[in-house]
Amino acid sequence: MKAIIVHGGAGYDLPPPEFADGIKKALDAGYEVLEKGGSSVDAVEVAINVMEDDPQFDAGYGSFLNLFGEVEMDASIMKSDYSCGAVASVKNIQHPISLARKVMEETEHVFVVGEGANLIAEALGFPYFDPIAPSSKKKWEEMKEKFIKGEKKLAYGKLRDFYLKKISEGLGTVGAVALDDNGIIASGTSTGGIHLKLPGRVGDTPIIGAGTYATPWAGASSTGQGECIIKITLAKRVVDLIEKYKPQEAITHVINFVKDMKCLCGLIALDREGNFGIFHTTPFIRVGYKREDGAFLVTNKYGG
Ligand code: ASP
Repeated sequence: MKAIIVHGGAGYDLPPPEFADGIKKALDAGYEVLEKGGSSVDAVEVAINVMEDDPQFDAGYGSFLNLFGEVEMDASIMKSDYSCGAVASVKNIQHPISLARKVMEETEHVFVVGEGANLIAEALGFPYFDPIAPSSKKKWEEMKEKFIKGEKKLAYGKLRDFYLKKISEGLGTVGAVALDDNGIIASGTSTGGIHLKLPGRVGDTPIIGAGTYATPWAGASSTGQGECIIKITLAKRVVDLIEKYKPQEAITHVINFVKDMKCLCGLIALDREGNFGIFHTTPFIRVGYKREDGAFLVTNKYGG
């Protein structure tokens, strides 16, 4: 059974129609890989690469800028045989998810951050790439003006509330989960993180178990407030329940806890039969889903 589900982040504002086009493009690209007999990990990488190249999304080109106006990107990928790779705070590459895959397949490590991640990228021939899109730069200038006007130095205490609220400024982290004809599930997630983040701040996206998880039963990718998602190991929490329940049912067993934790987030999951699960505690999540029996969905919002 071939199936793929992708997301483009969870947020407060209704995204413009072009967002759905971006989701559909990624979905089609990932599904095409599966149709041609490619693996689920290839499909996840390709789908995420498409969104990393689209400046509408907060990943790769288009990533949100940190407090100092730089882009630091995080990504992780995992397969149902428990192999996984992740990078965090990596700079100046085009496709962080591809680097996470290299960490999984070509190193003995699971998680490499900062300069080390860039060293691997360089050694493996990833070309230098400037991920700052004009739209992200403009947004950074507006956000700086709005939230830290007059601040001469870092005042993190003052910024804390802002960090917790800024989810309303729109999110665009991307993720995908795919199932191939060999029954292998892969999931991945890629992000530029949050607007005006502290340099070095890392959210859930590259954390195996929080942002991304996969087992022989299912895979999942999370999006939203990374600080909270890490605490509740969201992706693993849902995937583990899919040993017992179908994905959407598994979600009913975690959603109240997620709400009680006041965790603004969303998640996509896919099981080994190609069934999907989606939830969001934000008003919107952008998702697309395609399965070989024709089941299809592209939406800005799913469920309540
Ligand atoms: N989870 C990401 C982070 O905290 C942000 C997002 O999903 O939009 O870095």
